[in-house]
Amino acid sequence: MAISRRGWLGLAGVASAAAASRASAITIRTADPTGFAPAPGIAHLKYNENPLGPPASALQAMADLARQAWYYADDAEARLAAMIGSRLGVPATQIVLGHGSSEVITSAALAWGKRGTILLPALQFDEPLLYPMAQGLNYRRVAMAPDLGIDLGALARAAAAPDVAMVYLCNPNNPTGMMLKAADLVAFAKALPPRVTLLVDEAYMELADDPSGSTMLPLVRAGANVIVTRTFSKLFGMAGLRIGYAVAAPANAAELKRHRVTISLNAPGLAAAIAAWDDNAFQTQSRAAITAARRVLQAGVARAGTIALPSQTNFLFVKVADANRFATAMAQRGILVRGAWGPAWPEWSRVSTGRMADVERYAAALPELIKA
Ligand code: PLP
Repeated sequence: MAISRRGWLGLAGVASAAAASRASAITIRTADPTGFAPAPGIAHLKYNENPLGPPASALQAMADLARQAWYYADDAEARLAAMIGSRLGVPATQIVLGHGSSEVITSAALAWGKRGTILLPALQFDEPLLYPMAQGLNYRRVAMAPDLGIDLGALARAAAAPDVAMVYLCNPNNPTGMMLKAADLVAFAKALPPRVTLLVDEAYMELADDPSGSTMLPLVRAGANVIVTRTFSKLFGMAGLRIGYAVAAPANAAELKRHRVTISLNAPGLAAAIAAWDDNAFQTQSRAAITAARRVLQAGVARAGTIALPSQTNFLFVKVADANRFATAMAQRGILVRGAWGPAWPEWSRVSTGRMADVERYAAALPELIKA
């Protein structure tokens, strides 16, 4: 049995609600001989991965690169930053690549954490903050709205405190899958005190109904004090290859770069990302597969007589009787889903859109196990 990084962090007792909930998140992947995939027969619907990827173009690029892997990958890094910048409409200098978007979010927390407190919604992904928290990061969680959406009013009030340096929020949010209205988020960003930087984690934005109408990239292009992060882990199916990036105004980008881990990017990940970035056919196929699996999950939830929050992502937050007991009962059937996110949300369990057969297994088991 292997205990995943997430399991260790939880067991180490790091002071974080999400980490506390991960104490039960021990992952067993060992029966696969490579050690990289779940055991045969296990439906891994737990970490919001994308079973489609990486695309064939990326597999080929990694194979081609293998013999040149003895070089440092600086040139490839510059190339990918230029490609991303040109598509997103900013100079390459405003793209900060990281070892997954986690690295750039961690860098932001380290940098802005020196200036003051970081605010984040109570019910939100926070793993990139665990290392800064262990270094003494000051952070405050802000309660959710009654519908479990991000409460922008409460965040705005909390951001008025003079010690606040940054607001970190995920849009769409993880684990709820919910999306803020773009106009509301723009108004929130514009009303923040100038000393407060807004970090919008858009890891799932490419899966949303209207990515270009929902992203905060226009604010970054306009030079606002807003950082947007994105990843190759979700739409592109490359979670194990660890490539993500931030898009930021020049001064913020420079600050992020100063707080990056030295030489953190890996050549196979860069090769795959460069190949996949312009692989539009794959991206369309990936969105379609995720949407189709999400529909199967949503239909299963309705058939089971329960509800899920409105998701624009590759996961659903599903209401059950007891999320921890439910996750255990599902695991006994070889279906791995998340237990309770924290003590405040004991009835909500997150399930990811994995392989279609796995998603169908979950939907079939749901009516019986939901009462667990
Ligand atoms: N941001 C959110 C909202 C996530 O849910 C995740 C991973 O699940 C990440 C960032 C981390 O992604 P990456 O693989 O790019 O580090």
